[in-house]
Amino acid sequence: MRCPVCAGDDTRVVDSRPADQGEAIRRRRECRACGHRFTTYERVAPTLVRKRDGRVEPFDSEKIRRGLENALTDRPLPEGAIDRLVERGEALAREAGTEVTADEIGRVVLDGLRDIDEVAYLRFASVYKEFQGARDFEREMAALEEGP
Ligand SMILES: [Zn+2]
Repeated sequence: MRCPVCAGDDTRVVDSRPADQGEAIRRRRECRACGHRFTTYERVAPTLVRKRDGRVEPFDSEKIRRGLENALTDRPLPEGAIDRLVERGEALAREAGTEVTADEIGRVVLDGLRDIDEVAYLRFASVYKEFQGARDFEREMAALEEGP
């Protein structure tokens, strides 16, 4: 860790304590060269989500929630259904560790939705899978009838 003042790389930790309700560790460091003190935070790196176009962004469960809510606004889903689907996405990201693809997340959420509401499943699938036309819907309907 370079000193922000003199760019020396010989710094020592003078204090270390939990921060953000234990989600992070806050450290005070001191530069041995110039004596400057500064603060660093250490926290678990978020799982990265690789999108279809190759872009990578930190996992954000709110994006799953918004996607579901937009696709399913007028479906009478059971109480807590969206929460449970978001949790499936979160669990996948946790298990994946460093990186997961947006496709994998979409699939695990869709699998959960299929068990809850078939119409909602088809609607979300049409957004998530970027259906090109009626043939995609027919294929998805056929898959639905076959079961998982
Ligand atoms: Zn320094």
